[in-house]
Amino acid sequence: MKISSNFDSGNIEVINADDPAHIRLRIPYDAGDEFMQWFHFRLNGAKDQDCTIIIEDLDKSAYPSGWEYYRACASYDRETWFRVDTDFDGEEMTIRHTPQLDTVWFAYFAPYTRERHHDLIAKCQLHPRVRHEVLGETLDGEDMDLLVVGDDYADDRLKLWAIARQHPGETMAEWWMEGFLTRLLDDHDPVSRELLQRAVFYVVPNMNPDGSRRGHLRTNAAGANLNREWAAPSLERSPEVYWVEKKMREIGLDFCLDVHGDEGLPYNFIAGADAIPDCPQRLIDLREAFEANLRRVSPDFQSEHGYPPKAAGEANLTYASTHIQNTFQALTMTLEMPFKDTVDTPDYFQGWSPERSQKLGASCLDAIWGILPDIKG
Ligand code: ZN
Repeated sequence: MKISSNFDSGNIEVINADDPAHIRLRIPYDAGDEFMQWFHFRLNGAKDQDCTIIIEDLDKSAYPSGWEYYRACASYDRETWFRVDTDFDGEEMTIRHTPQLDTVWFAYFAPYTRERHHDLIAKCQLHPRVRHEVLGETLDGEDMDLLVVGDDYADDRLKLWAIARQHPGETMAEWWMEGFLTRLLDDHDPVSRELLQRAVFYVVPNMNPDGSRRGHLRTNAAGANLNREWAAPSLERSPEVYWVEKKMREIGLDFCLDVHGDEGLPYNFIAGADAIPDCPQRLIDLREAFEANLRRVSPDFQSEHGYPPKAAGEANLTYASTHIQNTFQALTMTLEMPFKDTVDTPDYFQGWSPERSQKLGASCLDAIWGILPDIKG
């Protein structure tokens, strides 16, 4: 039997893998030694044997509550990720599975590899309305990719931004991007066609390539949590944010969606930036209208459960959403998807999944379409 993680976004430390019934593992910390939660490994050579895999020390993980009612993801073909029997006792997580084939992959959530990212960029650039721009380099020397969708030579177009995966382990955010971009580039979709008559989309499908490849949950190569870097990004510590924020200032911005996953809460929800100093009421109304639209088109989305709202003026302006909304006085929201499943619309086999993330991405275009006339105020 062999357990390995020496591949794109792999992350596990083997303590003991001599006996399938008593496998013990640990999750290495992200660079910066502050966060650990993302795991991704494969197990070979235990076909038809009852495997008990214990992951230790999860009381020290970034979000211990993330393991409550959580079920690990597994796959034989790396396309379909299903959930397996998982328990958590407050300290250790136990995964029980009897592999039906020689090799089975396990992960915190369905991985979204760098290769798949390049496939996505390549597929999108074939569309005549797409431009692909490289904004700069990361610390590991990866490209920061921007897709410009629409007729950006026309001055009268709204400038709508979408960014994802500042936290690289939140892979559902890039799955969301696939659904969002695929529908936006569907020449037969009436909503996409009309949106592109009036708006240009500036899309960063992966804000944290280094963390993605390294198998981090939350940080880049320098150990920076990018969603706390927006007030003063630097080329030494957070070039990813530096390049994207610079481009936003160059181009302008009328709307921005920042896509994430939440470890603990079993819901899709929006975290608004209402608590910025002197937030205009029209931006609060616009956020509520966006959420109402999204609830109407997607039963997977809700607004009852989410983060507790902050008092007016109390916003932390190092976040993307608050920094951008405050800087551009334009609606900016964080969209959170679950690692577990949605309580109201569960899927026992897959839980929250790549496919459902893609559908939510596509639905967000309806919600944007609904508020388009009011985006600029
Ligand atoms: Zn996040």
